[in-house]
Amino acid sequence: MTLNISAAFDSGNIIVESADDPSDIRLSIRKDSESHFYQWFHFRTTGAKATPCTFRITNAAKAAFPKAWDGYRVAASYDRETWFRVDATRYENGHLIWDHAPEQDSVYYAYFAPYSMERHADLISDCLQYDGVSLDILGASLDGLDIDCLRVGEGEKTIWVIARQHPGESMAEWWMEGFLARLLDDEDEVALQLRKDVTFRIVPNMNPDGSRRGNLRTNASGANLNREWGVSTAENSPEVLHTIAAMDADKPVLCLDVHGDEALPYNFIAGAEGIPGYTEKQANNLADFLDAYKRASSDFQTEYGYGLSAPGTANLTMCTNFTAHRYDCLAMTLEMPFKDNANAPDAVVGWSPDRSAQLGGAALDAIADVAAQV
Ligand code: ZN
Repeated sequence: MTLNISAAFDSGNIIVESADDPSDIRLSIRKDSESHFYQWFHFRTTGAKATPCTFRITNAAKAAFPKAWDGYRVAASYDRETWFRVDATRYENGHLIWDHAPEQDSVYYAYFAPYSMERHADLISDCLQYDGVSLDILGASLDGLDIDCLRVGEGEKTIWVIARQHPGESMAEWWMEGFLARLLDDEDEVALQLRKDVTFRIVPNMNPDGSRRGNLRTNASGANLNREWGVSTAENSPEVLHTIAAMDADKPVLCLDVHGDEALPYNFIAGAEGIPGYTEKQANNLADFLDAYKRASSDFQTEYGYGLSAPGTANLTMCTNFTAHRYDCLAMTLEMPFKDNANAPDAVVGWSPDRSAQLGGAALDAIADVAAQV
């Protein structure tokens, strides 16, 4: 069997420059649709069992976030369930390089453990098996995929939780799995109470087109959805247009937008401090949420994160700023690492699907803590 590399599948992304010599496999990452962004990769290598291979991504330096490669280790899997990190990953002279001798005939490599659209379909169907869960289709993407929105709970206040505006941030949908699993657990007192007190509107994947196409940041038309709030059009970003229409009809008291950060090896939250008219109530609710999330998960912290925008200067085309401003609610962006949590590193898996899911479950405690005040 000769060495072969392919990416013609859900969320696949790689361009093979040369794969004749296993010790010098040269690859590049394809750009996002209609865009200059790129960073997400996901491909399969076959025919290299027990062969020492050196993989080299030659356009790593011009990726969207070159700082992402410092301290980064590539994710790999044989069975597409368990993803481990390849220690011999390094960033040298603008190339992302890793050495690996696959133990099996087929091995997958990815920027982070992928979350496929098939798994997304399973997640939605699984949730709908529970009493009290219903599904709304907010609209269609440009590729014609449904924008799925789950509805859970019967309270008067509405909490919106959305993920994966940036499709390459697959940890955001792993987070959603953990969040939904706990929210639907009939033996979890926190979940039961929350489902009485509030109604959740949950969009586990805001960007199905970009997810399936293997993009890092954009949808099919090259739009970065988290720069489209308030400026979205049916031609460029129907995903955001339809979501805002649904929010206008069912306004959030809390909106949580889940992401991954390429560079920072921590879990953190960015608030809407820079919006015009930011209120003391919003600030107090944010402080309480952050404290409660820290208590609920040792993987969450508030020491490291983004700098604050100066008052009145926030970019209102981002979901968190837009929703905080338009609905006068508590709005937050959660960021998880691609690399690892540097406060609690895991040598084998780094930051992982399981850890993302646990952090998702823990978010219920923080939401419960502020639900009465928001
Ligand atoms: Zn993001």
